[in-house]
Amino acid sequence: MKYERTNVWEQISDEELQELEAYNKEYMAFLSQAKTERLAHDWIVKAALEAGFKPLEEALQGDVKPGDKIVASNHGKGAALFVLGEDIAEGMDIVGSHIDAPRLDIKAVPLHEEGNMAYLRTHYYGGVKLYHWLNLPLALHGVMFKKDGTKVDIHVGEDPDDPVFYINDLLIHLSHKLLQEKASDVIKGEQLQVVIGHSSRGKEKDGEGVADNVRKFLLEKYGVEEADFMSAELEVVPAGPAREVGFDRSLIAGHGHDDRICSFANLKAVLEAQPTKRTKVGLFVDKEEVGSQGNTGMLSAFFENAVAELLGAMHETYDERYLKRAFAHSRVLSADVTAAYDPQFEALGVFEKQNAAMLGCGVSISKYTGSGGKGGSNDANAEFLSDIRQVFEREGVIYQTAELGAVNAGGGGTIAYILANAGAEVVDCGTGMLSMHAPIELASKADAYETYRAYRAFWK
Ligand code: MN
Ligand code: MN
Repeated sequence: MKYERTNVWEQISDEELQELEAYNKEYMAFLSQAKTERLAHDWIVKAALEAGFKPLEEALQGDVKPGDKIVASNHGKGAALFVLGEDIAEGMDIVGSHIDAPRLDIKAVPLHEEGNMAYLRTHYYGGVKLYHWLNLPLALHGVMFKKDGTKVDIHVGEDPDDPVFYINDLLIHLSHKLLQEKASDVIKGEQLQVVIGHSSRGKEKDGEGVADNVRKFLLEKYGVEEADFMSAELEVVPAGPAREVGFDRSLIAGHGHDDRICSFANLKAVLEAQPTKRTKVGLFVDKEEVGSQGNTGMLSAFFENAVAELLGAMHETYDERYLKRAFAHSRVLSADVTAAYDPQFEALGVFEKQNAAMLGCGVSISKYTGSGGKGGSNDANAEFLSDIRQVFEREGVIYQTAELGAVNAGGGGTIAYILANAGAEVVDCGTGMLSMHAPIELASKADAYETYRAYRAFWK
């Protein structure tokens, strides 16, 4: 029988369509609110606590037993939600997603004045087309620490009454020479400077009128000084909420679908997961977009340490072999987005249509990612693909397979290989989408919903 993809919109019942819309309404609220990894973390941990999950530190004070729901937080930028089974050493069923997204970070000494405007200098984070960041209303989110250690939260640009920020582009009238440049050179990294002020009212003789006013404002409003940017993490992202796209409202445009679309599906599914024999874990990590290093990335010991603590609490004696077994016997859905076929760029030959994810055709399974002959990818075992396929068939999940682009067209990676290196069975399984890594990305409500149904099925 000929294989054909199933189009979610054509397949689902009216009742399921209502559930799909309700799910996406919640997802859009998450996407609009959780604009940074810190904000995503806060949303996830709050939802976990409200659903009855206990903080790990608190759980370790008493008895830890099968059926317990526990949340471990990692430096306010990552989290692991455990639904404990009988013996963790027998392996876990893990859905792992990331909550960081490409953006512009404010530098340590960012403020300067030029042409009657004050700017903040940025250093971009993750893979971006630099020219994408021009001419957009921008918001600023993050934390600053004052000299005395006081933490100040800063969030500007999301409330309709807030001001926004902006990076200016050259007018078309004078762009003849610029437009001859390669697209990658049209805007240089150092040119991504954010306009944050213009008025020099009250300028003192020989002073920096505009920048001084910004300094005064920051001191009055937040109590911070210019030097406090040295101990800060401030992220520039597009301002404003996620929006429905199309007359039929079937798509969502928003910042950070990669990978908050899988992260929200992961969260919803783990909050609904019921305790069974095997331990279930919803894992949310930071730093995927820059290589998963650091103490908040997937390569850190955070998750391993949390599992070791739980094993220690549930076994009479702790043995390192339990930990190794727990990982070696785990099954993992690496919950990350993939590229859906984009008809606008058919002529470039960067997609191989027969193996690309199709928008609207459900959650996407990628046996491998990588580049240059699967380089750097986890290449999932056919046995595990078969297991997952059986789960999805049993639960009626609409799924397809996906390769991220044509052979040698480029490529990408995920966190999949990291847990696979510890011996787990891992496959990439997430949402196909368009305009990946653009400031505003595009995804199908149908695929968002099937991604949630896929993770829910995995844990059933
Ligand atoms: Mn991703
Ligand atoms: Mn990415």
